[in-house]
Amino acid sequence: MPRLSTVTRRAALIGAGAIAATSTLPAVAKAPFGGPIRTTVRRFRLGAFEITTISDGLRNGGGLHPVFGGNTTAEEVAALVTANNLPPASSTFYFTPTVVNTGDQVVLFDTGNGARGRPDVGNTRARLADTGIAPEDVDVVVLTHMHPDHIGGMTEDGEAAFPNARYVTGAAEYDFWSADDRLSGPMQGNAQLVRANVVPFADRMTFVDPGQALVPGIEAVDARGHTPGHLAFHIESEGRRLMITADTANHFVVALQRPDWHLRFDADKEMAAQARRRVFGMIAADRIPFIGYHMPSPSIGFVEARGDGFVYVPETYQFNL
Ligand SMILES: [Zn+2]
Repeated sequence: MPRLSTVTRRAALIGAGAIAATSTLPAVAKAPFGGPIRTTVRRFRLGAFEITTISDGLRNGGGLHPVFGGNTTAEEVAALVTANNLPPASSTFYFTPTVVNTGDQVVLFDTGNGARGRPDVGNTRARLADTGIAPEDVDVVVLTHMHPDHIGGMTEDGEAAFPNARYVTGAAEYDFWSADDRLSGPMQGNAQLVRANVVPFADRMTFVDPGQALVPGIEAVDARGHTPGHLAFHIESEGRRLMITADTANHFVVALQRPDWHLRFDADKEMAAQARRRVFGMIAADRIPFIGYHMPSPSIGFVEARGDGFVYVPETYQFNL
């Protein structure tokens, strides 16, 4: 029986800890700390489809301003972040490719950062294999857009990372990044990566416009602004719907609650803000779930329209039913 008189009020409140703290038995159950464990995959059914989100990894950084909210003050951004129980001077960025297995085809949306980002990120291919989907099993690789964190995993050791896949992307996106005059100037680093990781697969690539289906049940949605040909995707099976929003919003608090705040990585900041309002306005009105590439893992949630923007509501058990 623990000697309760020696138990502090705080220890009593934490129950089992109180017993451990006052036990006179020798400690035989010590275990070394194993370090943080995080969610890396989430798999669920959507109608007849099976959907898996895969964490490519994560990166820690500093405060969000001025990368986010470049058209407002650091104080405004810090105040919103603090009001949402987030630290004002640090942040974590998530990278989340998605697999939609339609039963007929395995469709992978974006490929992660690839080897160039390891060890923090670049884990998509390995984690996909852990779920039972070998790289050879991927039938279609969709590139929502061609920023490095989405195309870095197209190759592995100079070879196709998904050797049996065909590729789908937006024509405007491909034309923009593959243009010769992009190879010098402010976008040359990204354009050179496109030249190395995307252009070699052009002969196996098809282009979709907003409104077009790439396989039955998966349709491209206009989300231009982040990049010139950035696409979201609407998924529907047996009446169940979901949006893959890619980089339409890049932070679950500031980009959704303040959709008009600028993001440094948005090529056309006003068009990107319009895309946020349009895409998340539809998601909120139709009450459908979405997967956002940079939402916190496992990156699935809902939004509610509130005030001048949207509030993120992470998925809980909606897909268990
Ligand atoms: Zn991104």
